[in-house]
This record gives sequence, structure tokens and C-alpha cells, in this order.
Amino acid sequence: MSPAPAQPFRFALEARSGDARAGAFATPHGAFATPAFMPVGTHGAVKAMTPEQVAATGAEIVLANTYHLALRPGEELVAKLGGLHAFMRWQGPILTDSGGFQVFSLPTAEISERGVRFRNEVDGSRIDLTPERAIAIQHALGADIIMAFDECTPYPADEKQARTGVRRTLAWLERCAKAHDGQRTQALFGIVQGSTYRPLRESCAQSVVAMDLPGVAIGGVSVGEGHDLLVEVTRWTAPLLPEDKPRYLMGVGLPEDVLATIGLGIDMFDCVIPTRYARSATVFTRRGRIRLTHRRYRRDAYPIDPSCDCATCAGGFTRAYLHHLYAANEILSAILASVHNVRFYQRLVADARRAVLEGAFAAFREDFLAHYAGNKGSGGGSGAEAR
Ligand SMILES: [Zn+2]
Repeated sequence: MSPAPAQPFRFALEARSGDARAGAFATPHGAFATPAFMPVGTHGAVKAMTPEQVAATGAEIVLANTYHLALRPGEELVAKLGGLHAFMRWQGPILTDSGGFQVFSLPTAEISERGVRFRNEVDGSRIDLTPERAIAIQHALGADIIMAFDECTPYPADEKQARTGVRRTLAWLERCAKAHDGQRTQALFGIVQGSTYRPLRESCAQSVVAMDLPGVAIGGVSVGEGHDLLVEVTRWTAPLLPEDKPRYLMGVGLPEDVLATIGLGIDMFDCVIPTRYARSATVFTRRGRIRLTHRRYRRDAYPIDPSCDCATCAGGFTRAYLHHLYAANEILSAILASVHNVRFYQRLVADARRAVLEGAFAAFREDFLAHYAGNKGSGGGSGAEAR
């Protein structure tokens, strides 16, 4: 009897509540529970946080950006120093994106069937990013989950543009899979594009699913389409994805987006919002977002959120102290607020997961939003942040 082949990647679906799911995805660097929210470590660092602080929020997996790391310090140096896990001192699972999202937004990007040519913003040289190159960079970085190189269609896009994006995404997915073939220590996820056109989303999803990859992502969302269209696109696409594999909604989002799409069967999220907002003094509470630079917090002796158990709130730091740190431009403001915001998101997905396990996700979501949305904008001027 021959031994079963090693399976470093395995998704276990533990429970369902409506369409919401609770599960766990095993990787060579440990398993992470789903729904999962991945803090973003663009340059191999979650901004203003040490790996210990990130782990203490309950985050089990982080995202790093292929584009930024390839430009600086370069994937070869990262590989030489032991790979991304050793380089950034993160022991748990890591996901890298393909770099496509950043490259497509560059003003110098020239797109062809071969790939994308752009100007290196660090040293001015011309660089080609192709499906083969995106996979080679991600192999060198060594993340547990790597993403296919896709064409992220901007919003708004006409149907012809979206159709071209789907065609290229699928052709490039074949090339990514070929470049990745035989490599078993990293899991390649495919990406569904198609903009806001239902037939394109559906046909793209069917083609990506047919590739039988270990996970599937929905891309081309959180690009300015807004909550309602984001939910619509997810509603069309998620039911077409395999039950026994993780589903990742890329670049999403605000707490209300995360809860709405967990309810549609999404398992994985990433977004810069918790850390980016923290640096500009916007923090999340159970009663909505507040902006700590508002003068109403100058003498406020409460923690950011009295119901929060993060190191900042439980550590006794007051809103008045944070208000002072922002006014004095102290970098500790970014650290303390990032710790809080990342913990807020981890509690959000952990509470959602618990509700799914109890079969009560819809009630949980309704209760959360009743408190959260009921006080939207308290603290003044925090209602208009862009994604
Ligand atoms: Zn807190």
C-alpha cells in the first residue's frame, strides 16, 4: 500500500448558517480559521505594528504585496535571507497578491496579451510583469498562498473592456498554473473578474472553477463600485464557487461590507482600512467610527471602545491621550490606534464565526449593524473616507 500523497493545503468546512460559512484552511505554516481577515503588510510589514502585536490581535494570516517587494528589496534578496516568513519574522500563513492590481493602476502601464510593461518607480527602469514572472517572484518570496496574475478591470468599465479583462485573466490563469505546475509548497488561487456584468462574472467563475485550484478569489471589487454593487457581484459569483474550497473577496472592506459578504459565503478578506484609518485618527467602535482628533475627545477619559479587549483599550490608554498624541504628531498614535483597529476587525470575524457555529449568523449581523450603524459618524467628520 503506497502512502497517501502529502496534502499541505486543506479546507475544512465546519458549519453553515444560511449561506455564511465557518471553516479552517491548513497551510504549511499552520491553519487559519475562517471567516478570516488578513491585515495588509504592503512592504512586508503591517504598518506601525510588530509581528507580535499583529498576532496578539488574533490575526492568523497576513497579506504582503508582490509588486512592492519585487521592486524593493527584490525577491532574490528576500529568498537569500530565508524567504518572506523569516525576513518579516511572521511564523503563520502569508498570502501574496500577484502585483497586477498595483501595476494596472500605474499611469505608465502598457497592457498587452503578454503582460504589463511599466516604469519602475524606484529606479526609473522599464519592467515587464507577466504571468510567468508574477509566479516566479511569488515562488521566491515563499508565501503559503499565491495569487494568479489577472487583469483587474477598473470601475466603471464598459462591457467590451470587462470582456477583454476576463479573456486575459483566463489566458493568464492558464499560464500561471503552468508556471506553478508541480510546486506543492504554495497554493495558487485563481481570480474571477467580469466587472459588474453578471454573464461575464458567471462565465469567468465557471472557467476558473474548472481549473480545480485550492482556492478561488473574487477580484475587481472594492474599486469604487460601492456597497450595493459589491454585494450584487458577490451574490452572483459566490454560489458558483466550490463548497470545499476557500473563497476570498479581494480588498474588502468596511465592516458592513465584510458582514454582508460573509452572509453570502465569503471566507477570506484583506483590506488596508484598519491600519490606514488608524494613521489618520479614525478608529472603529461597536457604535460606529470616531475620529480621535475631534476636539470633543480632548478631555475624554474613556478608552477608544470600552467593550474592546485590545492592548490599547485594556491597557488603559484614553481617548484624551490619543487625541494628544495625534496633536503632537507622536508615532505612538499610529501604533496604539492600529492595534485597536486590527483587533476590531479580528473580533468582527471571530464573532461572525462563532455566530455561524451557533447557527445564528443573520441575528448576529442584524444586532451588530443596529448598534454600529445607529451611531454612524459620531465624533464628527468621519463619514467620508475613501476606500
Ligand atoms: Zn481597542
